Amino acid sequence: MPDRYGVFGNPISHSKSPEIHRAFAKQTKQDLTYQAFHVESGCFASTARQFFRDGGCGLNITVPFKEEAFAFADELSQRAQIAGAVNTLRRGADGRVLGDNTDGAGFIGDLRRLAWPINNKKVLLIGAGGAARGVLGALLKEQPQLLLLANRTAKRAHLLAEDFVSEGRVVGGGYERMQEYRFDIIINATSASLFGEIPPVPPTCFASGCAVYDMVYANELTPFLALVKGFEVKRLADGIGMLVGQAAESFYLWRGVRPNVNPVIQQLKQATP
Ligand code: NDP
Repeated sequence: MPDRYGVFGNPISHSKSPEIHRAFAKQTKQDLTYQAFHVESGCFASTARQFFRDGGCGLNITVPFKEEAFAFADELSQRAQIAGAVNTLRRGADGRVLGDNTDGAGFIGDLRRLAWPINNKKVLLIGAGGAARGVLGALLKEQPQLLLLANRTAKRAHLLAEDFVSEGRVVGGGYERMQEYRFDIIINATSASLFGEIPPVPPTCFASGCAVYDMVYANELTPFLALVKGFEVKRLADGIGMLVGQAAESFYLWRGVRPNVNPVIQQLKQATP
């Protein structure tokens, strides 16, 4: 019997994780199955417990269960503790379940793939939700010169920045603070585009050669990337590389084999909507 893996979420039908992990398994010749599971609200822990009791080896966890997975895990990696959320569970030989968070590593891996170094750069991270929290520790480890965390609700940015102040030079605030600097790298970690909105980045906040990353992904340019393209920004990337990168980190945790992300990113980009 092949080893069993899967992803828990709600909604889940849109998830690209099965396609990604099946592509990794084929590429690395690993004998495993990977399935998407729609989990009802209130049923996360019981469904996860049953999955592992039935011999399941590992799970990815997506919206809205990352905090519940954090509470479910028997032990936590350091990066999961820092993020306060879990996107990967792995059953060990002793039956205990480890909770990890691979979002930050997947994101930093994608910035490396794009050759966008963070070290000594001025970085703007827009958003203060789970995605921003998940990458903040990994970003600060790269030692930016400054990291401004700007959010629609300023208080959330202040609180999140406070949580990470021991990890590096991070300040939090409302959108108005974006006018104070010219940034080398700008990252949109909001879900504004899901509501047809765009964070209001002022045209003055782009340093020469600025690179802009949108964690949202789409088959065409995302609304945020379309906006900044209008400001003559040349280096743009959406979140598909992060999605594949975090999956590769989960796969490595489960199988001890690091897949090549590039062909899988290309495969997803070529797929029709
Ligand atoms: P959360 O719900 O935890 O946080 C949402 C964030 O977006 C908050 O900062 C919120 O601001 C802001 N926001 C929501 N609506 C608006 C709006 N209309 N205008 C301005 N800001 C808004 O979501 P996540 O942090 O988990 O996810 C954020 C995005 O990142 C999602 O679109 C998700 O798809 C993407 N993502 C991509 C990943 C990838 O692998 N590529 C991985 C993880 C996430 P406020 O605090 O003011 O409400």
